[in-house]
Amino acid sequence: MPGSKKPSKATRARWFEAGVVARGARFLEKGPGYVCPECLTAFPREALGDGRLTVEDVPPVVLGGKPLLLTCKACNNRAGRLHDRHAGRYEGVLNYLAREGSLKTRTMIAGQKLNVEFRLRPESPDVDDMIVWVKDNDEATVRATHAAVDRLALAGQLVGVELGFPVAAKASAVEVSLLRAAYLAAFAVLGYTYIDRPELKWVRDLVADPQADIVGPYLAEDDVSADPDRRLIGAVLTPEWLQSTIVIMGRHTVFLPHPDATSNPALYQRLAAHHGPFPAITTQLLAPGLTWPSEPLHYLDQIGLS
Ligand SMILES: [Zn+2]
Repeated sequence: MPGSKKPSKATRARWFEAGVVARGARFLEKGPGYVCPECLTAFPREALGDGRLTVEDVPPVVLGGKPLLLTCKACNNRAGRLHDRHAGRYEGVLNYLAREGSLKTRTMIAGQKLNVEFRLRPESPDVDDMIVWVKDNDEATVRATHAAVDRLALAGQLVGVELGFPVAAKASAVEVSLLRAAYLAAFAVLGYTYIDRPELKWVRDLVADPQADIVGPYLAEDDVSADPDRRLIGAVLTPEWLQSTIVIMGRHTVFLPHPDATSNPALYQRLAAHHGPFPAITTQLLAPGLTWPSEPLHYLDQIGLS
């Protein structure tokens, strides 16, 4: 993927060592080595060479993410397979809604499920073309759809086409993908001290649960018109009830617990009770000049070690 250059062996070794130092005396029961921030399994140095530790892109590459830290292969692969590909499909829908590109998706037409492409017509913003490519579909299904559409037309009925977000991507998988990406970004900046807190265990459990069918309070409404490449991680200053770690990845905003464990412990209850649009938010950077990390900083761990 463009912009996603894999870090060198030396860089990966540096990330490994930095993680071991940052971890300090935390998670001792897991044994020595680098602790995967997602499953908290400890890995020896050899895991870098034999592929058990992998470079993770945050946010996922399908959202334009870049290499940021090390996670274990099991966590990395699982996320790609179960969650990130749905986030990628959903992003395709948002690109289309933002009038930035065509959309290939599955939809129902006259009772038949088909792979279609919605194409923008630059000269007429209110009309799009829907193309059913025969090569993308089973021939019999295409024929059956033609026949059904003809019958409806003869009966003078309109043929409804639904823009298929529910068919194109699983909403809960998209949420898990975004929550996980925000968690990893916060880990990269704040470190093991942060993820050792009980509220962050709750986030990890949610991400790990394959049955999770969640509409979580940690996600703000998508901002379809936002720049997909926009990135920000910071602390919310005001309003006070929303004090948190804010992670903005393109059109998506995720709220995680505040970097200071004593600040706003009831964040998720407050978010769950909130309805309607968010008020204006002011934020503070987590470290001087840092709007988005390019490698693990473990900032809170550094403070603890100094
Ligand atoms: Zn892991």
